Amino acid sequence: MSKFWSDVVRGLTPYVPGEQPKLNNLIKLNTNENPYGPSPKVIAALQAEAADTLRLYPDPNSDKLKAAISEYHGLQANQVFVGNGSDEVLAHAFQALLKHGRPLLFPDITYSFYPVYCGLYDIEFEAVPLNVNFEIEVKEYDRPNGGIIFPNPNAPTGVPLALAEIEKLLKVNTESVVVIDEAYVDFGTESAVNLINTYPNLLVVQTLSKARSLAGLRVGYALGHQDLIEALIRVKDSFNSYPIDRFAEAGAVAAMQDKAYFEETCKKVIATRNVLVRDLQALDFEVLPSGANFIFAKHKTRAGSELAAKLREQSIVVRHFKNPTRIANYLRITIGTDTQSKQLVAALNVILKR
Ligand SMILES: *Cc1c(COP(=O)(O)O)cnc(C)c1O
Repeated sequence: MSKFWSDVVRGLTPYVPGEQPKLNNLIKLNTNENPYGPSPKVIAALQAEAADTLRLYPDPNSDKLKAAISEYHGLQANQVFVGNGSDEVLAHAFQALLKHGRPLLFPDITYSFYPVYCGLYDIEFEAVPLNVNFEIEVKEYDRPNGGIIFPNPNAPTGVPLALAEIEKLLKVNTESVVVIDEAYVDFGTESAVNLINTYPNLLVVQTLSKARSLAGLRVGYALGHQDLIEALIRVKDSFNSYPIDRFAEAGAVAAMQDKAYFEETCKKVIATRNVLVRDLQALDFEVLPSGANFIFAKHKTRAGSELAAKLREQSIVVRHFKNPTRIANYLRITIGTDTQSKQLVAALNVILKR
C-alpha cells in the first residue's frame, strides 16, 4: 500500500493464477495447459515471422486472423473479435456489455476472474449457487440481471451444460447479454456457436490457450452479433490499438487452419482423461463428470490439501482451492500425457497406502 495508489487500486483483489514453477522436472498438472505442443505448422509460421518486418506495427484489425477464425466457425468476419488471450477479451466484455444498472449473474463456483473484473470495473454481481451435483441450473438465472456469464464446461469443476439448457436460457433472457466462456469446449462439450445467428445477445468466448496448445502466445476471441463485436472494438480501440502482435497473428492463423492436428490432440487428451477417471475411481476418488482437459476429484476419506501437498513432495503439481469450503477437498487435475497420468496414479497409490 502506498499513498500514491489510486482508490481503485486500493480496492482491488487481483486474480491469482496457478503457479508457474521455476523448477524443472515437475509434472505440471495445475494450469490446464495442453501436454502436446502446438502444430508444427504453427512453429513454422512463427519462424517465418521472425524477420525485418517486426519493425512495423501489426495489423490493428487482425484481419487475417479474423478471416481464419470466421472460416473455421462458419461465421462472418464482422462477428469475430480477437484479443490478447481470452482473459483480455472477457475483460472488455465486462466493461462493454455486462456493466449495467442491474447485477451480473454467474455461478457461485466458477472462474475466479469474474469477480475480479467486477471489482476492476465496479460492476455489481450476484453469485448463483450450483445444484448439489455441481451443475448450473438455468432456471435460477431467470431473474432481472445486467448480464449473465459462465464457462461451459464450468471451471474449476469441468462439468458441462447441455446446449438445450443454454438455449432455454436464451429464450427467456432476451434483454441482457449472455456470455458463454468456452475455454475448454473442444474437449467434449457442445458449443453454443451455432446459436449465434439466432440470438443477438449471445457472445461466445474461446481461446487458443487450451485445445490449440498456445497458452504462451496469448490469443483469444469472441463470436457474436456484429453489434456486440462493435462494442468490444470500441473498448479495444480506447485501450490498445495493437493487442495482437505479429507473432500472435501468424501463429494463431496457422493454428486455426490446422484442423487435423487440433482434432487429433483433443482426441488424445479425452482418451487419457477417460482412463484417468477410471484409475482414480479405483483409488476411491469421486470424480465429477468432465467435458474439459481437467478433472475435479475428491477422495472419500483424505483431505484435498493433504493430497495436494503430498503430491507436490513427489514433484507432481495439481490445483487445490481452499475456498469455498464446498470444494476444499477437491483437486483439479489437468490431463497430461498417458505417461504423466501413470506417474500420478503411482504416486497416489504410494500416498494412500501410508
Ligand atoms: C484458461 C481460461 C481462460 C483464459 O485463457 P487465456 O489464456 O487468457 O485465453 C478463460 N476462461 C476460463 C474459464 C479459463 O479456464
